[in-house]
Amino acid sequence: MKEVVYEGLTFEPYITSDKIMERVQELGRQIMDDCKGKNPLFLCVLNGAFAFASDLFRAVEGMDAEISFIRLKSYEGMGSTGKVKQVLGLGENLKDRTVIIVEDIVDTGNTIHNLVNDLKQQEPADVRIATLLFKPDALQKPVNPDYVGFEIPTKFIIGYGLDLNGKARNLKDIYVLKED
Ligand code: IMP
Ligand code: MG
Repeated sequence: MKEVVYEGLTFEPYITSDKIMERVQELGRQIMDDCKGKNPLFLCVLNGAFAFASDLFRAVEGMDAEISFIRLKSYEGMGSTGKVKQVLGLGENLKDRTVIIVEDIVDTGNTIHNLVNDLKQQEPADVRIATLLFKPDALQKPVNPDYVGFEIPTKFIIGYGLDLNGKARNLKDIYVLKED
């Protein structure tokens, strides 16, 4: 794997597609155990989580489960704006349902924290969080994800759905911004 360049910034290979797939299968098995018989609703947070959600949902093949999509935006460039905006609403009724939020990354935790509060208004039975990546050192809100693919340091990541200003989402592997 080689370095990649976006907007003049160099990124180096960080987590290979093979490692991602292996971990996603493990998370799928864990969710199948934990949520057996609960008909969970996977709630994919667009845009970034589309790749993870697609693989994770197929990692629970055979499970009684549904998937839906919500679109939020809180990030511009490489810094969180702190503002969380719900762009695309949710059709499903969440009352008494087990909801599994599927996120690409929990950074400050603002996005997830606001989303969980929003969803709880509908009185779901349970709200769980599955995130591919988690930056615990960047956390500013009391967020405790139930399913974490990889804990990473507070560095900027692209690929496998994660973007830099809309670019690089189609990289199969995950790359980290090179610091020098
Ligand atoms: P939070 O609200 O600060 O937790 O940010 C969550 C959102 O910011 C994620 O859903 C991503 O879209 C974006 N984000 C956070 N860290 C990164 C990163 O390293 N690369 C790309 N996007 C990121
Ligand atoms: Mg996102």
